[in-house]
Amino acid sequence: MSPLCPGGRQVGLSGCAVGILPGMDAGIHAIAMELHLPAGALGPEPVTLDVRAYLVSHATGVVLVDTGMDAAGPALDAALSEVGASWSDVSHVLITHAHPDHAGALGHAREAAPAAAAMASPMDGLPGLHPLADRDVIGPLRAIASPGHTPGHLSFLHEEQGALLVGDCLGVAAGRLVRAPAQFTADLEVAEQTLHSLLALRRRPAIQLPAGERLRPAPGEDHVGDLVRMISRVPSAGT
Ligand SMILES: [Zn+2]
Repeated sequence: MSPLCPGGRQVGLSGCAVGILPGMDAGIHAIAMELHLPAGALGPEPVTLDVRAYLVSHATGVVLVDTGMDAAGPALDAALSEVGASWSDVSHVLITHAHPDHAGALGHAREAAPAAAAMASPMDGLPGLHPLADRDVIGPLRAIASPGHTPGHLSFLHEEQGALLVGDCLGVAAGRLVRAPAQFTADLEVAEQTLHSLLALRRRPAIQLPAGERLRPAPGEDHVGDLVRMISRVPSAGT
């Protein structure tokens, strides 16, 4: 990852820009958080990762997708206030995968919203959650099994908005789509198959991966072109 993760530069990794829509007008509110990794964790230089959780509105409340790292509780509290909601409005807490930058503040969310259904794939081994499987529908979101980064990784498709919240299936570096770091990916081969299945999803009518604020595709191309180019290459170390 070293070409993608120079010291101190912002590298979007999670939730990633594929799913970013600005504000709740679109029904999806991105909660941006920063995760600072010391030198040695992801290459020789310190790296700042852009971690995202999402609030997704529906007719009777809000779904929280991912919770960020364990210190993210106040950021989640603030995000709910920002969109005029409170924890009592949270109907579900959905976890894309069990990594600590995505499920770290799950305890805070469960305490703050005890009535909300907390859900994840049982294959990721988070204790005490309701099981969530491929194609399950929660409010406006459909769970999409997207294993590889972790065995039970789930993405969430907002069909009405054509937005796909991809967890750590994909990241963004310097405005382009990238793979999640190999160091943090459980099965690189399966993760690669997942990228192909996400692309197949894109080809369905009315399904789009909306460009995010951090994506800067090459001239004449879009982020889907980025994805096509990326998965048509043989995966190599560091990408
Ligand atoms: Zn992860």
